[in-house]
Amino acid sequence: MNLIIMGAPGAGKGTQSAIISEKWQIPAVSTGDMLRAAVKEGTELGVTAKSYMDSGKLVPDEVVIGIIRDYLSSDKCNNGFILDGFPRSIPQAEALERMGVRIDAVLSIEVADEKIIERMSGRRICSSCGASYHVVYNPPKTADVCDTCSSALYVRADDAAETVLQRLQTYHGTTEPLKDFYAKRGLLVCVEGQEKVEDTTALVMKVLEGVSKKEK
Ligand code: ADP
Ligand code: ZN
Repeated sequence: MNLIIMGAPGAGKGTQSAIISEKWQIPAVSTGDMLRAAVKEGTELGVTAKSYMDSGKLVPDEVVIGIIRDYLSSDKCNNGFILDGFPRSIPQAEALERMGVRIDAVLSIEVADEKIIERMSGRRICSSCGASYHVVYNPPKTADVCDTCSSALYVRADDAAETVLQRLQTYHGTTEPLKDFYAKRGLLVCVEGQEKVEDTTALVMKVLEGVSKKEK
């Protein structure tokens, strides 16, 4: 299955895509994770991306389109893939269509803005594997330590309150129109994001099973 996961920042895209990836044994790629890795390494790409990310704006389309084109042309994606955080604008979605990549479903995880703001203030990220936690809703077993790789957790620079508001604005203005774009193509499925990770996963699995049955 070739899947796109979308949703507001902090809606749980990364968390759900990691779960689906593990369950179905298909790779998940997050443009946000790739960009953060580039920032950490201080590559040219990272230097370009950092100022946009820190202010809650989108990195220019041509930059992320290039990253995704390279990724999708690698052998890793032969049995399917999950795109987390791409496309994030109509031009990105059009570029993906021009690449001739088949998409089976676009899953949108719906969460109200007030909830997003509350969630972001408690979000913690693993400095090594990128796993995402929440101090209340999805706490690690030991405070500030990653369950899977034992590395230290940190607060993402762009999770600062003002930046979260800017990211929500970017989401509603630039990314949300993709729901219409994909609904017109009969690909959009929506799930209400739940308080508990596993409750959202249950809903996600239900709609995706519907999609894979339709395909057969
Ligand atoms: P979230 O969805 O929680 O905002 P991500 O990790 O997906 O977090 O993205 C973090 C930041 O990386 C975004 O605010 C944006 O600056 C940049 N980014 C990620 N994916 C894209 C994309 N497809 N196009 C442009 N910018 C992107
Ligand atoms: Zn980790």
